[in-house]
Amino acid sequence: MHAIETKKRGGKLPAGVIRAVVEGYTSGKVPDYQMSTLLMAIFIRGMDYDETLALTEAMAFSGERHSFPGCVDKHSTGGVGDKISLTSLPVVAACSAPVAKLSGRGLGTTGGTIDKLESIPGFSSYLSEERMREQIQEVGLAIAEAGELAPADRAIYALRNATGTVDSLPLIGSSIVSKKAATGSGYLLYDVKAGSGAFMKTANEARELADLLVRLSDSLGIEASALITAMDEPLGSAVGNALEVRESMRFLRGENSPADLSEKSRVVAARLLRLKGIRNPEDAVERAISSGAAYEKFAEFVAAQDGDPKTLENIPVSKEVREIAAPKAGHVARFGALGVGRAAVLLGAGREKKGDKIDPGAGVEVLIKTGDEVEEDQPVARLYGVRNAKRAEELVIEALEISDIPVERPPVILGSLENGYGRRPTTSGQ
Ligand code: URA
Repeated sequence: MHAIETKKRGGKLPAGVIRAVVEGYTSGKVPDYQMSTLLMAIFIRGMDYDETLALTEAMAFSGERHSFPGCVDKHSTGGVGDKISLTSLPVVAACSAPVAKLSGRGLGTTGGTIDKLESIPGFSSYLSEERMREQIQEVGLAIAEAGELAPADRAIYALRNATGTVDSLPLIGSSIVSKKAATGSGYLLYDVKAGSGAFMKTANEARELADLLVRLSDSLGIEASALITAMDEPLGSAVGNALEVRESMRFLRGENSPADLSEKSRVVAARLLRLKGIRNPEDAVERAISSGAAYEKFAEFVAAQDGDPKTLENIPVSKEVREIAAPKAGHVARFGALGVGRAAVLLGAGREKKGDKIDPGAGVEVLIKTGDEVEEDQPVARLYGVRNAKRAEELVIEALEISDIPVERPPVILGSLENGYGRRPTTSGQ
C-alpha cells in the first residue's frame, strides 16, 4: 500500500488516498496487517490538520448519517461517575433547547449513558430515526443507542486497541468527531477530561485535544465549544448505573447534591444553552431546576422511551451493601477515580470486555471527597453488589489517600474553549 510508504517517511496523505484506505478497510479489501502498519506510521509520524479532517470525513460518511441541525448534543471523553448527560440534558431541554443524543455503552472504567438509562425499569434505548425525530418534536429530548454510526471508526478503533495505537491525537480527534458528525446535531459541547482517571493525564494534553475537536467540528459545520474538566476523583458520589441515575434524580429535584456534580451540571447546561444562543443561560438553568421543570422533563423523556417514571422516585439498586471505614483520621488527599472505577467494574457495574453482562444495581458510593476531613472509622464508601466484593473493597481502600495536613479542594473546571474555532482558550486551575 503506497500510503504506508508515504507515511513511513513522514509524507502527507492526500484526502483521496485517505478516503480510499478507509473505504478499503471497511469493505475488507485492505487487510488488518496493512491497516495496522499504517496506523502505527500515523502514530509515530502524526497527521497534519488537512489529513485529520479528511480521515474524520471519510469515517463520518462510512455508515448511517442523521441530521438534527437545530439540536444540541454533548460529548464526554469518558470518566468515572460521569453522569453529566443525565443531569444537564433535561435542564437544557426544559429551557426549550432540543436535545438529540446517540450514545454508547460503558467499557472498562468509563461508564456509558445507555447502560445508566437502561437501569430504569422498562427504559428502551432503541429509537428509529423517525421516532427519534417525533420525540424531539414532542418532548425536546431523545437519547438512543448509536447504531451503525461511523462503522469505519468502529473497525479502526478495535484495531487501534489491539495494536497500541489508541493514544494518538489525530486518531482520537477524528474518531470522536466522526461519530458526532454522523449524529448530525448542530451544536456541540465537548467535555474533555484531564487527570489520572482520564485518557488525557494533564490539562495541557486535554486542551490540545479540545482544540482539535472544536476545530474539526467547525470545519464540518457544527457550532462547538469545549470544557476541560478534572477527572482525578469520581464525579459526584455515585459510580454505577442505577446509583448514578438515583444521584442524578436528586440533583434534578433540587435536593442536596455533591458540590462538584452540582457545579459541573450547571456549567455544562448553561454552556449548551449559550451555544444555542439562549440569553442569560445561568438564570434559565436555575429556574429549570428550582421550578421542577428539569425533573419533569426527564420523567417525560423516560415515559416516551417506555420507562416507568414512577420508579425515578426510588430507583432499584443492589440490596447487598457493605460499608468501608477510614483506616485513620486526617484529610482526604485523593480518592482515585481509576481505583474506584475498577472496584465498580469488579462489582458488576461495568464491563471488562465488550459483551460482558452488567449488574445495573451494582457500584460504589464515595462518601468523602478530596479536601474533606475524616475521622478514624468514619464511613468513606459503600459497595453495592455481590460480585468480587473482597477485591473491590481492597481497591477502594487503596484508592484512598489520607494526609496529615489540610488539602485544598481541587477545581472542577480546568479550562474552556469558547465556541467558534480560533478564539483564544481561557484557562483556570492548573
Ligand atoms: N473515544 C473515541 O471515541 N475514540 C478514541 O479514539 C478515543 C476515545
